[in-house]
Amino acid sequence: MIKEIIKDEEFLKQPAEPATPEDAEVAQDLLDTMAAQESCACLAANQIGVNKAIIVYDDNETPRVMYNPRIKSAMRPYKATETCLSLDKDSEVTRFFDVKVIYEELVDGNLLQREVRLRDWEAQIVQHAIDHCKGRLV
Ligand SMILES: [Zn+2]
Repeated sequence: MIKEIIKDEEFLKQPAEPATPEDAEVAQDLLDTMAAQESCACLAANQIGVNKAIIVYDDNETPRVMYNPRIKSAMRPYKATETCLSLDKDSEVTRFFDVKVIYEELVDGNLLQREVRLRDWEAQIVQHAIDHCKGRLV
């Protein structure tokens, strides 16, 4: 279901609670909401009003879901200017060009741990979404 994007900074600044297999509907709502936006590369669950650590991002037109994502290692920092659906102005942030991310994937009702190495744009949008899970706004 398409949800409204939350802009309430007090709500968005709360660290997200761990996601569980019962949150599959939240992941679907995130995918639907991301698809309905004109330009949206990533979305975290708190941006649709659910304070759980789930993110979605658009990997070359293929939407992906990560439960409980975290950065395991990061290399090659650079400065980036980012926009956010939940914020009205752009922000300057430090991102890493090359990251390893640990996350969980929902398979047959169970969360299985995965690890992926991301670079460049994909790495950047996932870092942005993981920041949302920490309650950090760019
Ligand atoms: Zn954002």
